[in-house]
Amino acid sequence: SLPNHVRGGFVKLADFKIEQVAPPSKDQLADNQVILRPIYYSIDPYQRGRIAGVKGSFIESYSEGNAITNILVATVVASASADYQEGDVVIDNDGKWETEYVTEACAISKAPTQYSAEPKDHVGVLGMAAFSAYVGATVLAKPKAGETILVSSASGGVGQMVVQLAKARGLRVIGVAGSDDKVEYVKSIGADVAFNYKTCGNYLEAIKVAAPEGIDIWFDNVGGEFLDAALAHINTHARIIICGAITQYNLSSPDERYGIKCLTSVLIKKASIHGFIIDEYYDTPTHVAFYEEVSQLYRAGKITYRLSETDGLESAPQAFLDLFTGKNFGRSIVKV
Ligand code: NDP
Repeated sequence: SLPNHVRGGFVKLADFKIEQVAPPSKDQLADNQVILRPIYYSIDPYQRGRIAGVKGSFIESYSEGNAITNILVATVVASASADYQEGDVVIDNDGKWETEYVTEACAISKAPTQYSAEPKDHVGVLGMAAFSAYVGATVLAKPKAGETILVSSASGGVGQMVVQLAKARGLRVIGVAGSDDKVEYVKSIGADVAFNYKTCGNYLEAIKVAAPEGIDIWFDNVGGEFLDAALAHINTHARIIICGAITQYNLSSPDERYGIKCLTSVLIKKASIHGFIIDEYYDTPTHVAFYEEVSQLYRAGKITYRLSETDGLESAPQAFLDLFTGKNFGRSIVKV
């Protein structure tokens, strides 16, 4: 659970509390309720905003004293709903970080097992981060073969899918990551060029060397100084996809926000900036198109999807903290 909101700065392990509570029993189920036993929890950077307890964001903040919640895939272990049976594998987009819990049937959906019978895939290769990559890189970015795309956090849950979907559409792909191992991985999945932003020296120079002909699509997961530097290298009619801004999630105060200097490039290059939040695309034809394309590519061995998997719910807080130091290598999930 989260005893108190953590407004600014980095969250610490001591900010989480592990509690033993009595497991729910079948007898306490009201009509249309189910008991879920999570199999895999998704660990996501956006949860930092919910921990801060700020009102008016795109999703409710966590309430103090209660369980942390996030996307998870679970088995139904008891059901008082006509729509779910014991043994069904379901997705709860705001499920509890508990080993078993009661929820309303209307809050969950059956995992689309026609695309994969493996529960892990529904927080992995077919999960929310991969879907965000699909929406940003293939729908909003309107890619054309031969164009150049730059993607930050390129080995992560979102980034590695951006690299591979962009490559499949004939783009020249430049990936940026925070370690040499990650850089190697990004190249191994198809990036034409990749570099380590921690050791590359001057960002402006490094991007210029990687993209001598400029950038047509800038898919950003980090914000801040690197976002700014890339803006200086965009081409005419570039599309800038703002997917995340992880450099800005743990600031001690709003005064520390990075002030973008190169916005005039957007004007001069007649570029567009598109921010998005993935929840608007759930259960739409775009979601179906994503499942169809990515499940086929994955089954055919044409894409890979690296997971950063830890064991046991008690490992979830550390897995969450690791997102902000780059210790995760691939999409972060916790197995129960
Ligand atoms: P990742 O798997 O990419 O993990 C986070 C990574 O961010 C780390 O491994 C690290 O990689 C990098 N990172 C952490 N701190 C910093 C820093 N200070 N500066 C630069 N890089 C840093 O996470 P996801 O794929 O789940 O998410 C990627 C981004 O997309 C996040 O910003 C997230 O909030 C956003 N997102 C947005 C969605 C939307 O709907 N718009 C949906 C899903 C995710 P490295 O070692 O390479 O530095």
